[in-house]
Amino acid sequence: MTGNLIIISSPSGGGKGTLIKEVLKNVRDIDYSISYTTRPMRNGEINGRDYFFVGIAEFNELIEKGEFLEYAQVHGNFYGTSLKQNAAKTNIGHDVILEIDVQGAKNVRAKIPEAVSVFILPPSFEVLRRRLITRKTEKQQDLSVRLQNSFGEVRNFNQFEYIVINNEVTEAAKNLETIILAERQKRIRQTEAIRVILDSFDASLESVLGD
Ligand code: 5GP
Repeated sequence: MTGNLIIISSPSGGGKGTLIKEVLKNVRDIDYSISYTTRPMRNGEINGRDYFFVGIAEFNELIEKGEFLEYAQVHGNFYGTSLKQNAAKTNIGHDVILEIDVQGAKNVRAKIPEAVSVFILPPSFEVLRRRLITRKTEKQQDLSVRLQNSFGEVRNFNQFEYIVINNEVTEAAKNLETIILAERQKRIRQTEAIRVILDSFDASLESVLGD
């Protein structure tokens, strides 16, 4: 059985990174899609773990070779989701988390309508602003761009199936895990397992009737 694609979007500072780390720790058979980006590496980031950091020429080459499931320009940099990397994981039955922006989410859903989509909302604009300032990963200019973009991003909430309000991390992570686990229980996602069970009933019918 193939795994689910779980699209997770939020404005910058919405806390999706922290929630995703929790989910990866607590849920089995789930992987994280490592995107390609032209954004400069931040302190503490590792190439091949957080992103594949590439130059613009290499990024364009990947586009031409059809390596991306989707790509978009976000806050002035390019980001793209690898097609092969994720197909390899869903093909072995693992779910894959795509941490992508709202344009990317729209493009993935257009190609793969059964992808699960979750939008993480901060409890208020003020909390988002404070989180972005205290995490100190952006220069003042980048921080302003991210805050300005958040106004448009939150208005896209209605493109998503699920909304998780990130007020308190433990509770929000639990809610996200619940969505992922519930999606696995859908009848349509369990046809093989159900068939094996029903076959065992069919095979036993005669012996029971014969009793
Ligand atoms: P950051 O620079 O803070 O790591 O990410 C900036 C934004 O780009 C976030 O909203 C993040 O979800 C989004 N992003 C990261 N990877 C991808 C990707 O592969 N595709 C798209 N469309 N957005 C991405």
